[in-house]
Parts: sequence; C-alpha cells; structure tokens
Amino acid sequence: MISVVFSVLFVSFLLLTLVFQFWLASRHIRHILRNRAAVPAQFAEKISLASHQKAADYTIAKTKMGIVMQMVNASVLIGFTLFGGLQWLSVALVKLTGPGMLYQISLLIAFTLISGIIEFPFSYYSQFVLEERFGFNKMTLGLFFKDMLTNTLVSAALGLPLIWVILSLMEKAGSMWWLYAWVFFIGFQLLVMLIFPIVIAPLYNKFWPLDNEEVRERIENLSKRVSFALKGIFVMDGSKRSGHGNAYFSGFGGAKRIVFYDTLLERLAPNEIEAVLAHELGHFKLKHIVKRMVVIFALSLVFLAILGFLKDQVWFYTGLGVDPMLLARNDAMALILFMLSLPVFTFVFSPLSSITSRKHEFEADAFAAKHTNASDLVTALVKMYDDNSSTLTPDPLHSAFYDSHPSASVRIKHLLAAQ
Ligand SMILES: [Zn+2]
Repeated sequence: MISVVFSVLFVSFLLLTLVFQFWLASRHIRHILRNRAAVPAQFAEKISLASHQKAADYTIAKTKMGIVMQMVNASVLIGFTLFGGLQWLSVALVKLTGPGMLYQISLLIAFTLISGIIEFPFSYYSQFVLEERFGFNKMTLGLFFKDMLTNTLVSAALGLPLIWVILSLMEKAGSMWWLYAWVFFIGFQLLVMLIFPIVIAPLYNKFWPLDNEEVRERIENLSKRVSFALKGIFVMDGSKRSGHGNAYFSGFGGAKRIVFYDTLLERLAPNEIEAVLAHELGHFKLKHIVKRMVVIFALSLVFLAILGFLKDQVWFYTGLGVDPMLLARNDAMALILFMLSLPVFTFVFSPLSSITSRKHEFEADAFAAKHTNASDLVTALVKMYDDNSSTLTPDPLHSAFYDSHPSASVRIKHLLAAQ
C-alpha cells in the first residue's frame, strides 16, 4: 500500500516538475523573441543588433534542447524504475556475478554506462551542432573522444574507491553507517579539491603562469590591497575547446590559484582583468566558497540520514519498480534509486540555491567596485555577456528560478549605483 502511494507521489512530482520546466522554458523563449528586434536601451551603445540577435537565437536554441533533454531524462527515469529497467538489469547481473560486492559494483557501473550512452548524442549534438552553428565550438572530434576517455578514467579512479568504501560501510558498519559514510565523504571531497588543480585539471588543459607584466603587476597590487595570499595566477588554454571565456578560483590552503581562460585574457584590457579578478577575490574574502561548502556538507548529512532510513524500507524499492533481493545486498540499488528519485522531490527547492548564488554575486561585485573601478567591471561584464552570447533579456521568472548569476542589466544597475 505505501509502495503504491510512493509510486503515485513519485510520478506526480515528476510530471509537475516537467510541466513547470516546460512552462518556464516557453515563457523564456517568448520573452526573448519579444525583445529580439532591438538592443535594450541600456546596452544600445555597447552591443550591436547582430550580436543581440545572435544571443537571442543561441539562448532559444539551448532552451529548446533543454526541453528535449528534460523529456528524454524523464522517460529514461521511468524506464529505469517503474518500467522495470533496473529490476531487469539487477537480475541479469546477479546471475553473472553472484550476490557479493562484485554484483553491487557491477550494477553501479552498468547503470553509469547506460546513462552515459543515453547522454552521448546530446553532448555530441550540443558541441558539434549547436555550439558549432553559433561559432563557439573549437573542439575536434579527436579531442571530444579523448575527453570522454579521460572522464571515464578519472571517474573510475575516484569513483570506484569511493563506492567501495561506502558500500562496505553500508554492509558492515551497522545502523549508523550513514554517519561514517558522511565523514568519509567529506574527507574525500576535500582531498579531491586539493588534488584537482594539480592532478586532474592538467589532464584536460595546459596551464602556464600569467606572463603579461602589466596585468601581473596589477593583480599583485590588488592582492596586497585586499590582503590575499595569492599562490599563483595561471592561464588555461580554454580556446582549444570553446570560444566561451571565463575565470575561476580553485584550491584552498597553500594551493590557492586563479585561473584565466586565454579567451578571456585576449578580450579584456588589463584594468578589466583586474576588476574581474577583484570580483573573484570577493567571493573568497567574503567566505562564499566556505559557506557553500558548509551548506553542501550539511545537506549531504541530511540526505545520507534519509538514505539510511530508506534503504531498509521495502516500499522504497517496490514503489520505484524494483523487488529487493533476498539473497544479495540491495545497497547499490538503494544508492541508484536514491540518486534517481532525489532530484524529483527536491526540484522545488532549486531556486534557494540560485537565490543564494545571486546574492553572493552582488556581494562580490560590490567588493570589486570598492577595491577597483566599478566601470571597469561593467565594461568587462558587457564584453563577457556579448562574447558568450548570454541573452540580455531573459524572462524574469525563468532567471529568478534558475540563474546562478543576476541578469546583465540588473547587475550593471547595481554596479553603477555603487560608484
Ligand atoms: Zn562571481
């Protein structure tokens, strides 16, 4: 009985989410089309009509692809669960491997592989059709497959030990396994963050120290002014994959580094680079990164505790189309079902994360305005929005729900007011 109620809830939440996503996407597209004919007055002098319209068309194309992906993902989700895909897979695997740890790890690997195969046409289409059409794709087919292979090896090297430990804890650590799993998970995350810039990122890109003297001097002065112990300023060959530009901050402790995409450095003047960096330092100085980590760790504790409860409930499995095995462990299956069903029930909360993120963006902008020049950040932002073909006229509700960054016009208004 509970199992049926759970199935009904699951399908209802999934359908509601889909309808809502579809509605937001169609609002977004209509809003962009309505504003396509003219560049918004605020940007009229800085952005050409042609690039405004390119941004509109690019955003609409991406939004349409998003709708298709959401529908495919929902069908795959139903196929895995209520239509018996996972049930079939687990029965087939347990026959091959026997009921031990090998069965559990094979189930997770098979599930990941199948999901990856379903996703493949979308990443191919996104890179070689959509991005290509708008002139952003710089990737060769060879690099695309090399990246896929690297992704697989990195996920295996990091993921297999992680799931082995978690599955062992689920099996042997008693009813409080989720607490130990959480402690392990945090240590694992911190380790990955520590080794990411040194071990993982170089598998994908080349990094070299920033060699532009003027920029370097400005950055070093800025770091001193805001008393930030910068350990390295690097440039990354982002241009080998995409025309999009960005800057990011990575590592912690003794390995703090700022990374600029070469595409961004080419486009921005030294004073603009300084303003962008001040924004990134703002995130660090205002403890946004630490705050975000604390929230993620707290949430993972809550979710693991919920999983600790769910994995012993028969209705959790049967409600999602799986008969729990009597002779084999069901822990891997519980992990998969939890990963699949969690987003369906938490989608309604996703604006909370975007609202916080936008609040942090405003704060980092204000920090940059205080320590550098607000108008430099404004011109840098306009160039970045323009180069990335980010629309200047998103639907306000769509933006409020999804966007991690405030829309260009709102952001620039705030910055100009701070001057
Ligand atoms: Zn930011």
